Amino acid sequence: MKAVVQHLSNLIRIPSPSFLSNRPIIDYAVTALHKAQWHTRQIIYRDAAGVEKVNLIAAPPHQDPDDTTAELALMCHTDTVPYSADWPEALEPLLADGLLHGCGACDVKGFLACLLTSIAESDPSTLIDGLRLILTADEEIGCVGAAHLVASGLIQPRRVVIGEPTSLHPARVGKGYCLAEVTVFGEEAHSAHPQKGKSAIYSAARLVTAIEEYSSLLAEEQHPFFSPSFTTLNIGTIQGGTAKNIIPGRCRFQLEWRPIPGQAGDTVPAAVLKIADTLKRADPNFQCDFKILRQQTGFESPASSKLVRSIEAITGRAATSIPFGSEAGLLAPLAEEVIVFGPGDMKTAHSSRECVPLDELDEAVLCLQSLITRG
Ligand SMILES: [Zn+2]
Repeated sequence: MKAVVQHLSNLIRIPSPSFLSNRPIIDYAVTALHKAQWHTRQIIYRDAAGVEKVNLIAAPPHQDPDDTTAELALMCHTDTVPYSADWPEALEPLLADGLLHGCGACDVKGFLACLLTSIAESDPSTLIDGLRLILTADEEIGCVGAAHLVASGLIQPRRVVIGEPTSLHPARVGKGYCLAEVTVFGEEAHSAHPQKGKSAIYSAARLVTAIEEYSSLLAEEQHPFFSPSFTTLNIGTIQGGTAKNIIPGRCRFQLEWRPIPGQAGDTVPAAVLKIADTLKRADPNFQCDFKILRQQTGFESPASSKLVRSIEAITGRAATSIPFGSEAGLLAPLAEEVIVFGPGDMKTAHSSRECVPLDELDEAVLCLQSLITRG
């Protein structure tokens, strides 16, 4: 069996949904890296449930993982989403029709297997200076591990490749991901006497309608590299009231938006707060609270950047954009160039259809070998 397929099969067999410790995946990678004489440094934290999580920085022989500056960092996460109960083979790698199936096959153990293979198969004396491998925990629950790593100040890479399935296209732009919880307050009363209270649901309905009208204005700021080419917005959940015969005292909804890169970070929050102000002017008793839960910006590397050009040349595939969230938004403020790249298609990820084409694994190994030896 080819080394990359062997690595990926071994990695799939190690369960690593985010609620578990990622220690076993890190240990597996460390064993492979030490075999190639690489140096490793572990940065450990405990998650909200007290579970040990590990970020890893690794450097080739004769390079120091404690040196925070890096010329090129290859980065990927070590966790997967939880696999559903009706996928009993999630941890049993299955080869069929040129595809390798299993949980994490493309998101993103496939890329990790390619990294470990390309490192093992490269002569250490040919590796570029300032090369780092970075493995993170807890990407699937909001890039928590990467946020820890960035906050630690232990990495200052000039160029970064983040492993995610892009069918081997270098993705040079990506939208951000933001989430807020909005709570609208009213006053409870017996529903036979509506005038004694104030309906939080009626107030929330006015706010939701105004936000929907505002969302169409977002199309005025375009980024043609995306489809859709503008910041999108969604109210995905709403809850309010406690009983059919009580005037509702509270209504809460979740507002999610995916900003195009380059848009000011407070564009959507400022617009929503302005709408709330307008509603309050019309009704002094209107009251709401806007709490941002996540605010991750997008990223954009120029079409002419070295990484984009190199990967386009090696793979023969054109640069693209990605519609999904990734750690790129966290690294973009630190690095001159960030791209997302990897074997497989995100459309199969987060489902029991998850798989990766074997020929893309082989191609990714060659591409990574070229990057780590020629830059
Ligand atoms: Zn991923």
